[in-house]
Amino acid sequence: MSDLRQKIIASLGSNEDGSLNSIASLAKKEGEQVYNTLLSVLTQLEFSPEDAKKNWTRIVEHKEELETKLGHAISLMTAVCYYFSDVEKNINTPAIIELKMLEETKKQSYSDGLTGLFNRRYFDDALQGEMNRVQRYDGSFSVFFIDLDNFKKLNDTYGHQAGDLTLKVVSDILQTMKRTEDTACRYGGEELVLILPETEKMNALVIAERIRKKVEETGLEFEGKRFNVTLSGGIASYPADGKEAHELVHAADVALYQAKESGRNRIFIHDLEKRHYLRIGISEEVQVQSVTESLNPKELNAQGKNVSSSGILFESPVAIKIGSQVQIALSIKGQADPLTVTKQVARVESFDSYFDIGVAFLDMNDAGESEFSKTLLQHLGIS
Ligand code: GH3
Ligand code: MG
Ligand code: MG
Repeated sequence: MSDLRQKIIASLGSNEDGSLNSIASLAKKEGEQVYNTLLSVLTQLEFSPEDAKKNWTRIVEHKEELETKLGHAISLMTAVCYYFSDVEKNINTPAIIELKMLEETKKQSYSDGLTGLFNRRYFDDALQGEMNRVQRYDGSFSVFFIDLDNFKKLNDTYGHQAGDLTLKVVSDILQTMKRTEDTACRYGGEELVLILPETEKMNALVIAERIRKKVEETGLEFEGKRFNVTLSGGIASYPADGKEAHELVHAADVALYQAKESGRNRIFIHDLEKRHYLRIGISEEVQVQSVTESLNPKELNAQGKNVSSSGILFESPVAIKIGSQVQIALSIKGQADPLTVTKQVARVESFDSYFDIGVAFLDMNDAGESEFSKTLLQHLGIS
């Protein structure tokens, strides 16, 4: 065995983080051939030193990414296997194919057969992992629970297979519309859940609303029959709504229940104050009259999409920076004067010809009731 091969094997000790450092310092000393020798040791694949270095860098990146996602460390071999089977799929050798089968078996144990989403078991682990992670960094995250509306009736009317198809379509929408860092799982039956790392309530609401709307607008077809499905959702955020996994799940479930109670096809955010559960159809009682940028006062041609006691989502032809202040005037049915509020832009999402702008009425770091939410509810005669 070559001297370099031996040095590399010695560097791949039991301490994973240490191994990565030792490889880096070995490469400094011995030159870039360390990388192709390393990959040859690990996978029996032959690369040029240059390609090997590129692949190695990406393996390390993906290892970190996956660890963040899972909330726990993974072995170097798992990372290598993941990289060559899921990321750099062009490369196949018998050795890797065997590893791929191993990965496949692992994958089956945490993925849901019908929808392709992660299963309940994975969700439980991932939620706990996320919890452990944010506790270390003093961060926050949200969970978005989804329950399809009147699904029993859909099954009864169009058949169980149509129901299965519906579940698949909604799961695909969830996969496509979630952000890379979010984890989509099937919680059970027709209940799905999204874990949104580093996401405050209002941001989670904006994402959830977009998914709700997409599902509502998606036409379904089974054996020549056309139909639609809607979903109801509940959002809960760590740490405001719970510091333990079961508390957070319960909080989201309570909000979901409220969403169902109030008529379905809507998302409610959990809050300790019951009146926060309100979501108002913007076209009915509340309308955006104007949106003005506070620093650079000009009126934007904004179109309201959705308002709740915690915030507002509107469409704007121009982008507004996250964190910038906007003044919003809302006209309320039956009232002469508009209600105005100046708040921060919490989220900006770019689409082909417009931007979705989310503005939180709640203080983003606080689940407490904002003065404006109270006023809005009073004006609507709800408080
Ligand atoms: P709600 O709007 O209150 O949620 O009404 P619902 O009818 O959706 O509520 P319920 O929980 O009573 O019914 C859920 C139904 O979902 C019952 C069950 O037959 C159906 N279901 C659960 N899992 C599957 C599945 O994998 N495939 C199909 N086709 N149906 C499923
Ligand atoms: Mg259900
Ligand atoms: Mg249901």
